[in-house]
Amino acid sequence: MRLRALAKINLGLDIIRKREDGYHEVRMIMQTIQMYDVLEIYRRAEPGITLTSNLPYVPSDERNLAYKAAKLLMDEFQIKEGLSMKLEKSIPVAAGMAGGSSDAAAAFVGVNRLFDLGLSERELMERAVKVGADVPYCVMRGTALAEGIGEKLTRIPQVPRCYVLIGKPGINVSTKLAYENLNLKGITSHPDIDGMLEDIRKGDLYGMTSKMANVFEPGIIRKYPVIQEIKDLMEANGALKALMSGSGPTVFGIFDDAAKMAEAAAVLRRSNLAKTVFATEVYNRNGGATNDK
Ligand code: ATP
Repeated sequence: MRLRALAKINLGLDIIRKREDGYHEVRMIMQTIQMYDVLEIYRRAEPGITLTSNLPYVPSDERNLAYKAAKLLMDEFQIKEGLSMKLEKSIPVAAGMAGGSSDAAAAFVGVNRLFDLGLSERELMERAVKVGADVPYCVMRGTALAEGIGEKLTRIPQVPRCYVLIGKPGINVSTKLAYENLNLKGITSHPDIDGMLEDIRKGDLYGMTSKMANVFEPGIIRKYPVIQEIKDLMEANGALKALMSGSGPTVFGIFDDAAKMAEAAAVLRRSNLAKTVFATEVYNRNGGATNDK
């Protein structure tokens, strides 16, 4: 079985407060994009799970989120057979694009189908949160509002069709570092998530992009000014708006025109500001593409 594990971007990211248990309460607008890892899953007679990947620095044992997800279902359903997984990563690692979480979601969907476990999407999502806060969203995909620690999901209408340019500088930012650089009390303006939701409901791409914001951005940009340079380059070359995704450092630019995006991608490549440049579009859950490749 061959599955696509799609990346996400955060069109809006707000942090409301720190809870007593140390977790942060968030409000995020999540959007899946057409950039993906490919996960191949095979049944085999010998018990156990093996995983190989094209990236030597991605763990291939229980620390890999796809492995964790597969093991969780195999243990619960006491599956005696074994599983081998082959992961082809294209989503940049530690980049704010939920690559690992999406691989885990693909493993949940794949193991459910491969062994005919009969779990519904909702039942998979209930188990997915045990692997990570973003994993239920990666099972669900599309456009969604994420609240709580990211696991409380409300589906919202699909954003209008638009083009997405990804630019990831050659640095890695851990989510931990992003939280450490965040001064919650110092946040004077919070993203207008409700306004964005209204724009999305109305199908108003220009209203939505004008409100796009991420509370992690100022702290991370202070540390890595290259993020601001990539944003400026995209906006000078036709992006309606460019924003850092998640805890960074990936920047995405939203375009209303594919040709304009292609030109901006060429300028970004020539600039050498970004290590990964990828031109794509938003994924439409209702648009036919399925989890199978
Ligand atoms: P998020 O947007 O959810 O914060 P991220 O893009 O910051 O995710 P990931 O790419 O998911 O981060 O990976 C972060 C770390 O998780 C990596 O450093 C890696 O060691 C580990 N990891 C575990 N499983 C995977 C996987 N399947 N793919 C990539 N990294 C993985």
